[in-house]
Amino acid sequence: MSVLVFIEQREGRVRPVSREALGEATRIAAALGGPVIGVCAAAADPGLAAHTAAIEAAARAVQPGVLLFAASAMGKDLAPRVAARLGVGLASDCTAVETVGGALTATRPVYAGKARQQVRFPRTPALLSLRPKIFAATSKPGASATVEPLEVALPPAPRARVVRHAVAPGAKLDLTESEIIVSGGRGLKGPENFPIVEELAEALGATVGASRAVVDAGWRPHHDQVGQTGKTVSPKLYVAVGISGAIQHLAGMSSSRCIVAINKDPDAPIFKVADYGLVGDLFEVVPALTAEIRKLNVHA
Ligand SMILES: Cc1cc2nc3c(=O)[nH]c(=O)nc-3n(C[C@H](O)[C@H](O)[C@H](O)COP(=O)(O)OP(=O)(O)OC[C@H]3O[C@@H](n4cnc5c(N)ncnc54)[C@H](O)[C@@H]3O)c2cc1C
Repeated sequence: MSVLVFIEQREGRVRPVSREALGEATRIAAALGGPVIGVCAAAADPGLAAHTAAIEAAARAVQPGVLLFAASAMGKDLAPRVAARLGVGLASDCTAVETVGGALTATRPVYAGKARQQVRFPRTPALLSLRPKIFAATSKPGASATVEPLEVALPPAPRARVVRHAVAPGAKLDLTESEIIVSGGRGLKGPENFPIVEELAEALGATVGASRAVVDAGWRPHHDQVGQTGKTVSPKLYVAVGISGAIQHLAGMSSSRCIVAINKDPDAPIFKVADYGLVGDLFEVVPALTAEIRKLNVHA
């Protein structure tokens, strides 16, 4: 049973989220006994409709048992469209996939992360999108693959077209691709205090995130927002500074591998999901932590 993977590229390079999807595809294919087949667009900048047509054509040609997307911004747009075209369901934003006795089961967070749902697939292809930064990326430099062109009848010119991709000013890495994130919340009291968070982030080599409260207050841009109505992130380390841990914030970061919370309120809900909790005044604790990490960096 083959596993088909949609491969996202940007400026001619395979995106890290697709390497993760390929890694998981390899694992599933090994368990189910079949090849991994990737589908990617050869046209320079096709729109959503063209992508949908191409993936549908590939799925009809290959008849895969499993079809994988990354739950990236693009995958979130494409996967439901392809599911509708193929007349199958979709398990979106999966955080685990199991194969037992040739059957696939996916786990995905629901109710803003309050519960986990296990999904089985009565029809093929089993269509899944995978949450970024959860699955191990494929790491076989120099591996080879056969390339087969697939002619696709493209739909009429799209009503919307991607003109260019712009990197957010000052952002080293997109939050969803960051290994370490330091996020600040309303506990910082004002935008003039955000350098406290930025300095810790710099010492750790991290990207800066934010709660919605500070984004709504205009202290940080929306692309920094983590949570239900912001970005879903799963870094190796997530440091929450002055963030209470409202369910809508947890929805975007509770699948992080290690969570450190710094909050002066010992009953703040963020401590329920934290691996390490630091009860204290962030204005004292965070600069001290930054100074210690800088010392470690100097000695490294
Ligand atoms: C439909 C909907 C969608 C939403 N989507 C999102 C979302 O995507 N992301 C998101 O984050 N929120 C979202 N929210 C908002 C969410 O409910 C919370 O209001 C928000 O997360 C609170 O942000 P905060 O933790 O920064 O602020 P607060 O809840 O005000 O928490 C501030 C924390 O800072 C601590 N603190 C204060 N001073 C200090 C100090 N000196 N030292 C240490 N700690 C201190 C306090 O103890 C407190 O815990 C959404 C809400 C709704 C209704």
